[in-house]
Amino acid sequence: MKAIRVREFGLPEVMRVEEVPVPTPGPGEVVVRLHAVGVNPVDTYIRSGQYLPGLKLPYTPGLDGAGVISAVGPEVRHRQVGERVYVARSLTGTYAEEVLCKEFQSHPLPEGIGYGQGAAIGVPYGAAFRALFQRAHGVAGETVLVHGASGGVGIAAVQLARAAGLRVIGTAGTEKGEAMVLAQGAHHVLNHRSDGYLDKLQDLTCGKGVDVVVEMLANVNLDRDLGVLAKGGRVVIVGSRGRVEIDPRATFMGETAILGMTLFNATERELASMHAAFGEGLSNGTLRPVVSRELPLAEAAEAHHAVMESSTLGKIVLLP
Ligand code: NAP
Repeated sequence: MKAIRVREFGLPEVMRVEEVPVPTPGPGEVVVRLHAVGVNPVDTYIRSGQYLPGLKLPYTPGLDGAGVISAVGPEVRHRQVGERVYVARSLTGTYAEEVLCKEFQSHPLPEGIGYGQGAAIGVPYGAAFRALFQRAHGVAGETVLVHGASGGVGIAAVQLARAAGLRVIGTAGTEKGEAMVLAQGAHHVLNHRSDGYLDKLQDLTCGKGVDVVVEMLANVNLDRDLGVLAKGGRVVIVGSRGRVEIDPRATFMGETAILGMTLFNATERELASMHAAFGEGLSNGTLRPVVSRELPLAEAAEAHHAVMESSTLGKIVLLP
């Protein structure tokens, strides 16, 4: 089968298609014939050697995908050959025609959800869910600012927060992005490229501030985020691409909190909880992953350039 292999850390062009053996499932493992593969910013950090520098080379990138179970190992209890699934993490990497994963890393893909959409679930919805509910403990009736709502994680955060009864204010950097954020269910949208856009939160929250900020670019926004929080408010840092200066005193009066977050820390129980929520949301129509671009697997390098540019307006997926 064909798979992308990385033999040295570096620029996107280090990713090459190679012929590799089809994996054989061991106990508790399944093989999935992938029809779509999700491309996430973290794939680029890993490929460049910044994120998991101890990772053994060569490796196949990719955490997300969707397809059909092609083989099951002994002791697999809940999956069968021919079943449509999405994959969230794996043992061999998803930038490939087939992927080996633990049974619990595969999840049923409900009817009506395409493979591309299935490949857009694992990291984006996982990060959004963990930020909103497992870190910020957001609850119905609270107001959330999704600061960067037009990308993969942001769209997921808008849909998940709306479905859970929070009041959602999202931001985007373009007119197309603003329309997209409203279409995903945000009650209000602001443009993070216009001057003074956060001032509007005063009116939108009747002077109270927002309870939760889900932050996609903390190095740019964290200092200002601290100024828009309500009493007891929480900022969850999902994304950051550099350093930032903040005034810690801004947390005093409201006893507000800055929370870090990585999906890699989610326990098996926390993962099971989020995927149960995704299964239900995908089935009842409240969760609708958005695919903005499809590329052949061989164009993984182009996908890595594109995912680091602004305004992806949904997920980029590779088609093996
Ligand atoms: P993406 O699809 O590329 O989306 C990026 C988002 O950031 C877009 O909505 C973009 O809006 C927005 N943005 C650009 N400039 C901004 C600004 N000045 N203020 C606020 N938002 C701004 O990326 P993604 O997959 O959603 O991931 C977002 C970030 O989270 C990435 O840095 C990623 O590495 C990180 N992440 C972290 C975890 C974790 O476990 N901690 C998991 C997943 C992702 P416009 O394009 O409309 O300007």
